[in-house]
Amino acid sequence: MLSWEQSPSVALMQRERAWVEIDLAALSDNVQQILSLLSPRTELMAVVKADAYGHGAVTVSQTALQAGATWLGVATIPEGIELREAGIAAPILVLGATHTAEQIRAIAHWQLQPTLCTPKQALVYSEAVDHRASLPVHIKLDTGMSRLGTAWQEAVEFVQLVQRLPNLAIASIYSHLATADDLDPTVLRQQQQRYEAALCACGFDPHAPTPTSPRFHLANSAATLVDSSLHYDLVRTGLILYGLYPADHLKDRVNLKPVLQVKARVTQVKMLRPGTGVSYGYKFICDRKTHLAVIGIGYADGIPRNLSNKMTALVHGQRVPQIGAITMDQLMLDVSQIPAVQEGDVVTLLGHEGNQQISADDWAGLLGTISWEILCSFKHRLPRVAVGNVRPIPPPISGISRPSDA
Ligand SMILES: *Cc1c(COP(=O)(O)O)cnc(C)c1O
Repeated sequence: MLSWEQSPSVALMQRERAWVEIDLAALSDNVQQILSLLSPRTELMAVVKADAYGHGAVTVSQTALQAGATWLGVATIPEGIELREAGIAAPILVLGATHTAEQIRAIAHWQLQPTLCTPKQALVYSEAVDHRASLPVHIKLDTGMSRLGTAWQEAVEFVQLVQRLPNLAIASIYSHLATADDLDPTVLRQQQQRYEAALCACGFDPHAPTPTSPRFHLANSAATLVDSSLHYDLVRTGLILYGLYPADHLKDRVNLKPVLQVKARVTQVKMLRPGTGVSYGYKFICDRKTHLAVIGIGYADGIPRNLSNKMTALVHGQRVPQIGAITMDQLMLDVSQIPAVQEGDVVTLLGHEGNQQISADDWAGLLGTISWEILCSFKHRLPRVAVGNVRPIPPPISGISRPSDA
């Protein structure tokens, strides 16, 4: 996997065709903004699943931890291992379900912390883990998302089972929200009530934790912005870390900066006569003399082909239309308004130049999807190039310290 930790000459080569620029200073600022919303009780988990939403998991994790996050969240075991191999020692919660003996061995070996979704899974874990150590585990309750977890009404049985089982220590009890970004808070508050009722039934007070009680957490990015009653001991933020807002009505809480930009170079310029067709299928025909720029980036890099003839790009600080079908490795822009464009010029597909900005929200709007999916769509063919003044802390020389947490 490509990372920013490469020699300057390689870093220069990384900007030859097309690349994703990761602004570590913006990321660090976003962490600070999020921390400013949290009380001293609440810790910040940087959710870095899916290669940190396409930003590069190792670099993002190092920067987020340096800026004040204390937990990392991943979806899968290999994602956790990648962070451990990079020398990251912070506690890592695996948000997805894991069951097999092989997975449990990997969890224990790499000191990752699993999510237990069912009593059966808890039994399997208790039998499989090493008897000398007690493994920190995280109990997942389903309070209305209808995804992972045991129904909140069955929390007492589930929690008591895990408390009785040898080799396991409950590090947290958590749940996940389905509609935290909705303007209508009805479902959000219903889930919160169910979560708190389940914890109370288990003998915990989510608002008055004791030194021995597990951590409690419920909030994703949206809930983190909604209000502090949803924060408890930990918030699990993905999207806002990367500088995007989960919803328009949550924009006034913090001042976030997008971390990711997508850039590519002009590889050829040409003048087309009126009536000339552009790209596969002639989905665009020039209605006038057109100054065309070919850009070295395409759908194999993660530019959605459905943006053909819809998207714009920034060239010399000006917004220009993309024309014709986007192809696997290249796309075309109408740069008639900018006669000075030359081969080698840098174009911004997603990001900002001067006072112009094209955001993942703009693309999501054009495509009828969400910004989360846009961020995750950029392929590894695009090198991730770190910019900004924050340097990640160097990895520790020797092994991993055990998250002292249970
Ligand atoms: C992905 C995920 C998050 C982060 O969601 P955002 O909306 O990006 O903040 C938090 N918790 C769980 C369980 C997740 O799967």
